[in-house]
Amino acid sequence: MTTIRVGHLYPDYLNIYADRGNMAVLAWRAAQRGHRVEVTGIGPGERVAAGEFDLLYVGGGQDREQALIAPDIAAKAEGLRAAFEDGAAMLGVCGGYQLLGRFYRDRAGAELPGCGLLPLHTVAGERRMIGDVLLECELDPGDRQTLAGFENHAGRTHLDEGAEPLGRVVHGFGNDGESGYEGCRAGRIIGTYLHGPLFPRNPWLADWLLSQALAHRLGGDPPELEPLEDGLEAEAHGVSAARARDRGGRF
Ligand code: GLN
Repeated sequence: MTTIRVGHLYPDYLNIYADRGNMAVLAWRAAQRGHRVEVTGIGPGERVAAGEFDLLYVGGGQDREQALIAPDIAAKAEGLRAAFEDGAAMLGVCGGYQLLGRFYRDRAGAELPGCGLLPLHTVAGERRMIGDVLLECELDPGDRQTLAGFENHAGRTHLDEGAEPLGRVVHGFGNDGESGYEGCRAGRIIGTYLHGPLFPRNPWLADWLLSQALAHRLGGDPPELEPLEDGLEAEAHGVSAARARDRGGRF
């Protein structure tokens, strides 16, 4: 049995749409493979150092919560970067995704600093981008997967030239409603606008992150995880994907 150490950043601030539930799924899927997930909340003013966590997670929040957290996450940038260079995995969702970039400029024009781990920035637009989304991803060459979820954001995220998106938008808005891409991936870091039941609907992504976290914990390549039944999860994915399809094209 391996204990996977998860650092949950700002659970009291960035947790809309039950983003917290992703941690429950992660723990359950680890337990099915005989491992243990230990989740530690990391609040404002607390430090993050390399080697302490195998996976870091930051959920979504509205502009108000983001404004409270932005200076703190910017102050943690050095520790977070050291954790990634050491091989820890990370997931940022929506408001958390935006704060993994360099900055988020809100509707009033205020620039909230991010930690700059992902090569991107975000600027709030007039119209909110809301609805079900379907993406096509290929995190490992040859391993194509679909990701289904729900987005609700005013921010338009612009990836730097050459940055890798998480996936191609099949239905929905994605990063900015124009590029045809959603999210960002840099090594073991994933950022996405897909909220709430991200892991319950897309267990392959939970397993991908688990396996990256295990690789950090144990050294070596990410291990293959024994497949689980996942009948209910496939149904949940199907319902969400169908809703995204019904919504039709983009913008
Ligand atoms: N500031 C964000 C936006 O509206 C975050 C939204 C969210 O996390 N739901 O773009």
